Amino acid sequence: MNRPALIVHGGAGNIPDTDHAACMAGTRLAAYTAWQLLESGASALHAVEVAVRILEDDPIFDSGRGSVLNAAGEIELDALIMDGATLDMGAVIGVQGIANPITLARLVMTDTPHGILAAEGARNFARQKGIPLLSTADLATPQVLQDFQDWQRAQRESAALPEVPNKGTCGAVALDTSGHVAAATSTGGKAFKLPGRVGDSPLVGSGAYADDRTGAVSATGDGEAIMRVVLSKTATDAIGSGLHAQAAADQAVRLLMDRVQGEGGLIVVDHDGQVGFAHSTPYIAVAWVSADGTIQTAMRAPTGPIRNVVDGRSA
Ligand code: ASP
Repeated sequence: MNRPALIVHGGAGNIPDTDHAACMAGTRLAAYTAWQLLESGASALHAVEVAVRILEDDPIFDSGRGSVLNAAGEIELDALIMDGATLDMGAVIGVQGIANPITLARLVMTDTPHGILAAEGARNFARQKGIPLLSTADLATPQVLQDFQDWQRAQRESAALPEVPNKGTCGAVALDTSGHVAAATSTGGKAFKLPGRVGDSPLVGSGAYADDRTGAVSATGDGEAIMRVVLSKTATDAIGSGLHAQAAADQAVRLLMDRVQGEGGLIVVDHDGQVGFAHSTPYIAVAWVSADGTIQTAMRAPTGPIRNVVDGRSA
């Protein structure tokens, strides 16, 4: 029997200092709950779904409740889950009014012959599955509504646009006692995005990837950059070439920076049960379980906001 492994994230970016404590509390709860499941023999797939559901329910993160609004004042949600044992995957894209898109993505994987359902089709499928259909008002928090009003006013008055709120996508990767890995990512995407915009998060290989032969990855950050380097698959390929989780995370983030000047981060678990994370952003909210079984949280990698970078260039 394998010792399980787990790491979760609540987004990468310039997360305001005032949000750090709540981000750490949220990721800690998700990691703790998923770890209990893994220790009692649950599958990695179940553990990552549960971890992401907890993060989706926490309004501090940009997923499920608390998601950011698009330019039309709507919430459009993307999510992806992947099973490393079979390479099965399920995703939803641009779906509205679903509290836990990650569960809908898992149902797409298990209960349809398809891999991805989008927009109204995904919502209709949720209805068939008995999942409550909510409105944008049900999912939006007073803060995201205020941010949207400020943004609209600035546009009307041609004033300098207010700073885009930096809320985090969420994700989880795990290895279970049977040696299987899984990955899950869920997001409301970028604030004030054009309606219909799709980021990296629901795209297999970009927002997440899982393969028992290598490991599992969940990415976060600038989706337009992340998808161009297929960040999650790049990191699992790095494991396949012999790197452990942390080295693979570092190498993938270096590629993101060097090739597309991308701002983002990722969490990694390898098939040996090691975990790692890296980011090119000032912060990434993460929680993981260390070798002694205690939950650790961090808002940035130990060596600083940008790993292995000397004088602005990759080392
Ligand atoms: N990657 C997400 C997107 O581009 C956003 C994020 O991770 O913060 O939709």
